[in-house]
Amino acid sequence: MHVVVIGGGVVGVTTAWELCRRGHQVTVLERHSLAGNETSKANAAQRSYGVVYPWADPAMVLKALPWLVKQDGPLKMGMPPSLATLRFMFSTLRYAWSPGLFGFNRRAMLRLAKHSRERFLVLENELELNFDGAHKGLLHLASTPEALDGYRRTQRLLKSMDIPARILNAAEVEQLEPGLSGNGPLYGAISYDTDGTGDCHLFSRELARACEEKGVVFRYEVDVEQLLADDRRVNSIMLRCKDGQRENLNADAVVVSAGCWSDKLTRPLGQPLPIYPVKGYSLTATITDEQKAPISTVHDDRYKVVMTRLGDRLRATGFVELNDFDRSIPQARLETIKKAVRGRFPGCTDIDSAESWTGFRPMTPDGPAIIGRGNRENLYLNTGHGVFGWTLAAGSADVIASVIDNQEPAVCLDAFRPERFSE
Ligand SMILES: Cc1cc2nc3c(=O)[nH]c(=O)nc-3n(C[C@H](O)[C@H](O)[C@H](O)COP(=O)(O)OP(=O)(O)OC[C@H]3O[C@@H](n4cnc5c(N)ncnc54)[C@H](O)[C@@H]3O)c2cc1C
Repeated sequence: MHVVVIGGGVVGVTTAWELCRRGHQVTVLERHSLAGNETSKANAAQRSYGVVYPWADPAMVLKALPWLVKQDGPLKMGMPPSLATLRFMFSTLRYAWSPGLFGFNRRAMLRLAKHSRERFLVLENELELNFDGAHKGLLHLASTPEALDGYRRTQRLLKSMDIPARILNAAEVEQLEPGLSGNGPLYGAISYDTDGTGDCHLFSRELARACEEKGVVFRYEVDVEQLLADDRRVNSIMLRCKDGQRENLNADAVVVSAGCWSDKLTRPLGQPLPIYPVKGYSLTATITDEQKAPISTVHDDRYKVVMTRLGDRLRATGFVELNDFDRSIPQARLETIKKAVRGRFPGCTDIDSAESWTGFRPMTPDGPAIIGRGNRENLYLNTGHGVFGWTLAAGSADVIASVIDNQEPAVCLDAFRPERFSE
């Protein structure tokens, strides 16, 4: 079967790999000149299999409001908010206050993450990919005793799902991450020992190369304009090439993995996908003192900033900002991220020389990604992965490939079903 995957981010490329492994002829369409160059480019680099949770968190609603007004609070919003932002927020509130939904979705995401870890390990064994990848664990720091109590509750839930997590005191944390010598308060941490890290952009490019070696066709610098369909199926894909020429491409099946831009393709077919671009920022700098740098990845709960080791580089990431597709990078945001780095790993890098980046998490208003069959018999969706697309890429690629092959997916997809937004 010839399957066309729209989008060459980490989700699209991993999907292409799984389909190719199963013997399909695969074409990937990507508007950038290389893979993993949009949201997958400079994210926090965590493969946080134990830390996936839905965006619509009822406990977060009240906590988040003060963050909006605090100068270095982790949540920001463009003012005045656009209609799209307001619609997304109200929809989020509706899901957050749906009884039982958060717990149901969280467990579903954790199951998918567990599967993703297994699939990543298989993939990393099968292929030699250089992406500064490691599985050396993940720490969520507690800067207050209350934060540590919260982690104890999380640990109980994870234990019930056979997901390992340990509560550490401050001395144990410092033993695991000796570079943590800053003046930030530290009461302990929750440690996810089997979680991992890796450069999502490098991974996407390396995997795209491996796919090409196996016969997958990557067409870069093409913009998919429209899916041409009748009531039953998608008949062809209209794309615009770099030279402005239009082309109609035929396919037996189409997978939309176009991140924040997926709705543009499916809405005209009567399948709206309410994916909102939740903005974040990152800084990447060369490590100048190994001993003072993180060994793996650390989440600082004060600023909600993540600091990750990627080979000889440090990646520091933060902020959740509702500001549509605004690509500006205000200095104030970067200063907060720098403050977090200096407060936790002082002297590990010249953070002022770091390269800055901003990207958009493809967020659904409830939180789980959109994975499954679309509203045409040969249309499939693997998109809307929000905060956790890197973590969930390998697992979601495997399950969507099973759906396409009419096999039972390894993970129940109820929480991810595309049609849930119109129910
Ligand atoms: C600051 C930040 C930190 C993050 N940290 C983490 C983390 O630590 N761990 C984690 O798991 N996740 C993290 N994420 C989330 C993760 O990066 C995303 O979920 C993931 O990259 C989404 O991948 P994707 O392939 O769905 O989307 P994208 O990478 O955006 O790929 C979609 C691709 O589709 C292409 N496209 C769209 N429309 C068209 C069209 N019409 N024609 C042709 N091409 C098209 C785009 O050019 C793009 O390349 C973070 C995100 C941000 C912003």
